Amino acid sequence: MKKPLIIANWKLNGNKYFVNIFLEKLCYKLNKNKIYNISIAPSLIHLNEAILKTKKSCIKICAQNIDINSFGAFTGDVSATMLKNIGVKYVLIGHSERRIYHKENNKDILKKFIEVKKNNLIPILCIGETLKEKKKKQTKKICLNQINLIINNLGIKAFKNSIIAYEPIWAIGKKIPIKIQKIQKIHNFIRSNIKLYDKKISKKIIIQYGGSVNHKNAEQILKQPDIDGILIGNNSLNFNNFIKIIKIIKNIKK
Ligand code: PEP
Repeated sequence: MKKPLIIANWKLNGNKYFVNIFLEKLCYKLNKNKIYNISIAPSLIHLNEAILKTKKSCIKICAQNIDINSFGAFTGDVSATMLKNIGVKYVLIGHSERRIYHKENNKDILKKFIEVKKNNLIPILCIGETLKEKKKKQTKKICLNQINLIINNLGIKAFKNSIIAYEPIWAIGKKIPIKIQKIQKIHNFIRSNIKLYDKKISKKIIIQYGGSVNHKNAEQILKQPDIDGILIGNNSLNFNNFIKIIKIIKNIKK
């Protein structure tokens, strides 16, 4: 059985005090419990602190971004090699906020995916459609294009030990009701497409959902057969709500 993977994307939030207190309380609550598969993505400046704080726990640390280059004259950037060196496990690639605000395109996303794999980190490829695309019934086409970027350039094996996060852009950062059956259908569509290339990878790959997930809807979302985890933004900044979500895992039997 796959353990649901819960990732907290803290985005541009938190400070040294918040990171330390939150992680101290979280480590205490989880108490080395191996049933949990949890990761925290703090801002870049807090990664090292988060790694040191969670060293003896089951919590793994995720970076929100990397540069397309491994090293060199790229002022202000951080490479996958550097993240690997300090003990990061996962890296978010192609989050919609980076695609939109930083104009990341397919070429950048592919380069970042390659950098992450080259350094034996685990990429979390974020995919999903805008509201306009959803209204035009292009959701499947958009998701397919975004996963095909990897398959066509690197081959299906690139998805071995990789994660896909389906994050419809219209649902991110909002508090909107989620039509869980529809989300499940998209997840199934993504998995079925991977299955066309490789049955084993399609079974093993973690396909997470992200967008307006909270402690009230998390259980129903995680109970869906093709939803293997959740990526949480806003709600993960509230310690009590985050703990409620984590506790839900005990009720998930697939
Ligand atoms: C996200 O940005 O990855 C996300 C899922 O945000 P939120 O949970 O706030 O919708």
